[in-house]
Amino acid sequence: MAYLMALDEGTTSCRTIIFDDKSRIVSVAQQEFGQHFPKPGWVEHDAAEIWSKQLETMHQVMKDADLSAEDIASIGITNQRETVVLWDRRTGVPVHNAIVWQDRRTAKMISRYDTPEHRKIVHERTGLLLDPYFCATKINWLLEHVSGLRADAEAGHIAFGTIDSWLLWNLTDGEVHCTDISNACRTLLYDLHRQCWDEELLELFEIPASILPEVKPTSCHFGSTASSILGSPVHIGGMIGDQQSALFGQACVEPGMAKTTYGTGCFLLLNTGDKAITSENNMLTTVAWQLEGGAPTYALEGSVFMGGASIQWLRDGLKIIDDAPGVNELAASVPSSEGVLLVPAFAGMGAPYWDPFARGAILGLTRGSTSAHIARATLEGIACQVCDLLHAMERDSGVALKELRVDGGAAASDLLMQIQSNLLDRHVLRPEVLETTALGAAFMAGLACGVYESLTDVSEHWNQDRRFESEMDAAKRAEHLDLWSRAVKRSRNWIKEDEHEA
Ligand code: ADP
Repeated sequence: MAYLMALDEGTTSCRTIIFDDKSRIVSVAQQEFGQHFPKPGWVEHDAAEIWSKQLETMHQVMKDADLSAEDIASIGITNQRETVVLWDRRTGVPVHNAIVWQDRRTAKMISRYDTPEHRKIVHERTGLLLDPYFCATKINWLLEHVSGLRADAEAGHIAFGTIDSWLLWNLTDGEVHCTDISNACRTLLYDLHRQCWDEELLELFEIPASILPEVKPTSCHFGSTASSILGSPVHIGGMIGDQQSALFGQACVEPGMAKTTYGTGCFLLLNTGDKAITSENNMLTTVAWQLEGGAPTYALEGSVFMGGASIQWLRDGLKIIDDAPGVNELAASVPSSEGVLLVPAFAGMGAPYWDPFARGAILGLTRGSTSAHIARATLEGIACQVCDLLHAMERDSGVALKELRVDGGAAASDLLMQIQSNLLDRHVLRPEVLETTALGAAFMAGLACGVYESLTDVSEHWNQDRRFESEMDAAKRAEHLDLWSRAVKRSRNWIKEDEHEA
């Protein structure tokens, strides 16, 4: 029996999962790490803590599963994307806390670069938008604010990495400074089409090339762990950003296949094959993965900020449910939301609207409305946002999707999945293994070391738990989506610019 180890490094915790060669979970260990908020809108992590917690979970799973290094065929890493770590190559010590993807401190810095021409170059070359979410301005902020750092960087002493690179550096005891293409393409510095760091963008964002990691495919030989890590060296065969990893873990390996992760937010990715489609509808274009010796596979990506988090608001804000699963019973106690709509724009709206001035709204209330209607409207609001993403992607790609694969915490809700299928008029497929993010990284590692032989092999290891089919008639669906688009219009552009905290 061959085992694969997935390091799943998220925004709030590090996990390690061991899978067997039939993609079954053998053992899981998890450790939370600290979240630092030095100022409003700033979010930092201690990269050294992330590494030590990740290592603890690696030791824990080995102990729990009673395995030794020789039993592990390969390691795959998947990680929170866009989070920036800079460290000193001479000591391996980070020069500052990591700046997390959620951090908005460079919102003002972005305006320095914000011209129509720069927006166009960034969008065409990187597939992204000029936004503080990505790495470039975060790196530049560190170079400007940490004393002596720019000089050290120019002298070649400083390394940049997203968390995948940082973990790899530590796993190999400073031997390897690499990233993979799915992480590189989230930096705002990588040309998707030429598949290289872009000199002009580096110059624009004032970043010395000497700090950059080498970019490799998502599945290949990245190096081996230092003997001190697990007792003897283990092959490291996969590195992939978390959302792309979930797409792969869902075995969406053919163009036209898509998955949505219903976590705190919702992330929809559509495999577009060997075509990098530049979106006309505010979606991001991203590399999904690249297997060794092959061309990159691309994806369109759309995200909304409030998915499962809207359910948490029912629990913590409105206090109409005791826990997240409680939403299902309350919402199921009424046959419909009876004209009540909830637009979960609590933190503005993400794709396809990108409206930071939108705010949440509940519309259509009558004297007969109850907490049950609001609970049901919340589930419908989550599903309608995913419909908006999917319709936008279909317009961009010209592909009509047949089915949607789903994962993440809120995909456990049968009612939400049924509503999603009703409003999309597509089959919604939920897999047996909901740990798709970790599984994607394990598949990548498995392909690199021969445990899995091909994409077909990977597809055969995806197993369905349940399929939801639409039970809604077309007229009702059209009526609901029309109400939704009217509700979205009313919630948009609500607060004034000076009320908006960048
Ligand atoms: P993340 O990885 O972003 O932290 P998860 O994938 O763990 O998120 O999903 C957590 C979300 O799922 C929470 O916001 C919660 O509201 C929602 N959730 C969890 N279980 C259920 C359930 N049974 N029904 C509906 N929503 C749920």
